[in-house]
Amino acid sequence: MTTERGTIAVQTENIFPIIKKFLYSDHEIFLRELISNAVDATQKLNKLAAMGEATGEIGNTTIEVSINKKKKTIRIKDKGIGMNAAEVKRYINQVAFSSANEFLEKYKGLEDGKNIIGHFGLGFYSAFMVADTVELITKSYKENEHAVKWTCDGSPEFTLEESDKKERGTEIILHINEESKEFLEESKIQSLLDKYCKFLPVEIQFGEKDSTISAADGEKEKKIKIPNIINNPSPAWTKKPSDLTDEDYKNFYNELYPYSEAPLFWIHLNVDYPFNLTGILYFPKIKKSYEIQKNKIQLYSNQVFVTDEVKEIVPEWLTLLHGVIDSPDIPLNVSRSYLQSDQNVKKINNYITKKVAEKLEELFKKDRAEFEQKWENINVIVKYGMLSDDKFYDKASAFCLLQNTDKKYFTFEEYKEHIKINQTDKSKQIIALYTNNTIDHHVYVDAAKNRGYDVLEVDNVIDNHFISFIEQKLSGVQFKRVDADTIDKLIDKDEKIESVLSEAEQNSVKELFEKIIDQNAGTVVLNAQSPDDNPISVTKPEFMRRMKEMSYSNGMDFAGMMPEQYNIVINTNHPAINKLLKLEDEEKENAVKQLHDLALLSQGMLKGNDLTAFVKRSFGMV
Ligand code: ADP
Repeated sequence: MTTERGTIAVQTENIFPIIKKFLYSDHEIFLRELISNAVDATQKLNKLAAMGEATGEIGNTTIEVSINKKKKTIRIKDKGIGMNAAEVKRYINQVAFSSANEFLEKYKGLEDGKNIIGHFGLGFYSAFMVADTVELITKSYKENEHAVKWTCDGSPEFTLEESDKKERGTEIILHINEESKEFLEESKIQSLLDKYCKFLPVEIQFGEKDSTISAADGEKEKKIKIPNIINNPSPAWTKKPSDLTDEDYKNFYNELYPYSEAPLFWIHLNVDYPFNLTGILYFPKIKKSYEIQKNKIQLYSNQVFVTDEVKEIVPEWLTLLHGVIDSPDIPLNVSRSYLQSDQNVKKINNYITKKVAEKLEELFKKDRAEFEQKWENINVIVKYGMLSDDKFYDKASAFCLLQNTDKKYFTFEEYKEHIKINQTDKSKQIIALYTNNTIDHHVYVDAAKNRGYDVLEVDNVIDNHFISFIEQKLSGVQFKRVDADTIDKLIDKDEKIESVLSEAEQNSVKELFEKIIDQNAGTVVLNAQSPDDNPISVTKPEFMRRMKEMSYSNGMDFAGMMPEQYNIVINTNHPAINKLLKLEDEEKENAVKQLHDLALLSQGMLKGNDLTAFVKRSFGMV
């Protein structure tokens, strides 16, 4: 064969400069594209061999990646099917070229290139993003075929000549251009291999080679570093669940996220109809909302890493899970906004959501005690899911748990039953009481318990939203924080108690307190309660408090400028209030202050100067 020169299917426009400029920050994907091709060629060979169509020894098929700093080259070498001259002309000059061209055409129309996911499609020609000249030396697996060498210097002209390559397979040699020097660093290539090739299905070896002394000098290439296999060709998600132990799943988690805490449990995904999808999703331990780490899920396509930004592909709440999703059916070279409306993506979402719900339900049914034990660490994800996905809510409302201050767990239904008799108010609403701080609310929790009421304990940021949300879902149930009102009014059963004070006496009590309170925040409220209830208390009406919390979490009250509204509720039937009216003026004023401070103190609201004044006054009284 004589050296052949030719021009690659000339277009109106030369695409090489476009390739080079293109996707500037994503130049690194050339490595994934070329290694994927090497993997494909190797797998094709294995298939042919299995069908008896490839004769001869298959031997070791490890793909070798190496750098030559002196020559400024990167070499990717496979022992796959290779190509003969006709195939190079067809696949490289025509197929690969026109598909790269087509890809670029599609890409140019898009406003934000970064929006394309994964950038599959550019293929072989992505080599020209980092190389001035690319050499492809290849020998077909077929018998009696000559090896050929294809060279292209980034102009549409190529040369094709005979080569003396003896081994079956393909070698790609990239002459790295000046702007892409960073890819000649071993550490750079190592990190790219870790990112894109960690789970490719064929063994990959990487080792830097010393400046090679050319074959003409009669010496062999001298390796200074022993190349290592850098990938795990059969990761856990590609295996059958029945072949895996808990230990295997945990080890794989460790492989994905070294040094992180063991996951709670996992879901092995495996569907082949109506779409193909495999993967393992892990439930990490999350106790507090701030421990949430989103975007830890990695997306693969046939074991090739695509992206770890899956938020358009799985529903946002599922991005709290960790693990791997592998699907060749997620369109990878389309824009992210398009993905959300893609039918396959929708089906995949529904499938994953269903699987997660089923897994949780199974755990709940199989071992309630263990489920309760894990609840602390999974409730954030479950609640987030219920808030954001109605279908998930419907399933999860059967196993979502509420915990009371005695550390007992209830499902929604169980809890309704538990409190129905004692906590139904005059308008037939079931009132669920809750606290987000058993220590600060001790006085209130205590009062509720003395009445035989049950109190739920909530302590997650998400619970603020969650409570309002389930109130809408569970008809006839209302949630009130224990300090939202005095105990008789929290669950108003319409048990009227007459005030022992006359109208005039009541007015003078009110005046006494109004004189000393901060009228911007507090309102004095008179209430005829049982004489056994506290004489005075501070309450924070549920509605006002939720409004404030809501605007705070929406960032509308960043400086906490909305004042905290509270009521000073005076139990006009308490003997202490009665006595108060009979005191001398000076004593009276002190007693009012003392009562007021005690009320603030029990809500943790007495601070600074006021606290000091209270302490001094109390000492004086002793
Ligand atoms: P794609 O891989 O998507 O088909 P590419 O542009 O990457 O597109 O490659 C085009 C074609 O060139 C491949 O389909 C394959 O036939 C051939 N090819 C590329 N790399 C190799 C290789 N390492 N060994 C054998 N054939 C290859």
